Amino acid sequence: MKPVCRSCDKEYVVSRVGVAVLETMTGGLPYKLYLGDMLQCPECGHEIIHGFGNPIGHFDGRFDERLKDEQDSHNLVATI
Ligand SMILES: [Zn+2]
Repeated sequence: MKPVCRSCDKEYVVSRVGVAVLETMTGGLPYKLYLGDMLQCPECGHEIIHGFGNPIGHFDGRFDERLKDEQDSHNLVATI
């Protein structure tokens, strides 16, 4: 079962697959990069990001390049 919009009593639907979310450390330094799916309520349009896979950590040799790619392609949708 997919997540449900409490306001509308509707299941969210997938609107974008593989969007990136950057988790930061205290002070705002990049920490981990997650990929998940963006879901949207078909009634009110509220969006959530759901279904994250394993993150790429800042210690990974690919991290800086991958983060830049996600930013350049406007696929980084949230920083937490
Ligand atoms: Zn809704």
